[in-house]
Amino acid sequence: MRRISALIIALMLLALLPALNPAMAAGSNLSGYTICVDAGHGGKDPGAVGYVVEKDVNLAIALKVAHVLEMDGANVVLTRDGDYFVTLSGRVQIANSADCDIFISIHANSGPNSASGFEVYHYYGSYKGNILATYVDQEIDKLIPLRNRGVKEAGYYVLKYTHMPAILIETGFVTNSYDAGIISDESYQWKYAYAILHGVQRYFGVPVHDPVPTVEKVRFADHGNYFRVVLDMSKSANYHVYYTSYSNGHHLVIQIDNAQLTDLGWPVYNGWYYTYTGSSIAPIIYATEYGGNVFIVIEVNTAYAPYSDFTLSNPDRIVVDIYS
Ligand code: ZN
Repeated sequence: MRRISALIIALMLLALLPALNPAMAAGSNLSGYTICVDAGHGGKDPGAVGYVVEKDVNLAIALKVAHVLEMDGANVVLTRDGDYFVTLSGRVQIANSADCDIFISIHANSGPNSASGFEVYHYYGSYKGNILATYVDQEIDKLIPLRNRGVKEAGYYVLKYTHMPAILIETGFVTNSYDAGIISDESYQWKYAYAILHGVQRYFGVPVHDPVPTVEKVRFADHGNYFRVVLDMSKSANYHVYYTSYSNGHHLVIQIDNAQLTDLGWPVYNGWYYTYTGSSIAPIIYATEYGGNVFIVIEVNTAYAPYSDFTLSNPDRIVVDIYS
């Protein structure tokens, strides 16, 4: 009972901070949109084969596109998420039955060795498809050092039979060694993903931006002589660690600047997530998002207990160890 009343007091004190700011204003990111991302070919169908195999590059880029779209709040539907075969009609069915707002197909080209560059297709005469294709083409042009072959029209099956504005991106030529080096390079694949994200943001009238870092999970473990808190981040972020004192105890704060918090699956009180840890070093952890920053507040039993903090990358993780 004593622990519960301490919790309530702590939560009341924390509640003196302004209330949780749950999300950015409507229209500031891609939340509310469902986007189908289609990695061309797969399984028994390798697509074009040259210096690299098309199906592999398509999937690697498509998964990164899906990741950044989701980071910006979009609901993403993938037609495949591994190396397996999906028919063209199967792909269309996935997009149509999910009632996607737009359809983005990722392919790579083949041709004579001298052929090089990227191009973006939409269906013949599609007005919205042309707008989406134009924005995505312009954004790829900014980030990818390949020749821009422009926006083109075609009657490809997935462009024709999907019920929503649809584009098909030929990212580069697998038959050209320079192109193949770009499209199979992981850092360039992320650039394709961000370029496509920016094109999609423009299409939906959302300000072009990269998604803010998200605290995706808060994990903890008591190691006896120290208590470890691990924040799993979607990307790296600036953070500070400091102590604050409330009348009821001491709190170690991990402040992550310009970041957002996903649903931690913990109980919520007045906009604060909280969980008991079972540890005597740090019995309760609270978390909230306020003023565009994330606050992880760790109640500690020893005043100003020593701690160390560091980051681990890929994926980005913030680790704080609190010593007893
Ligand atoms: Zn293809």
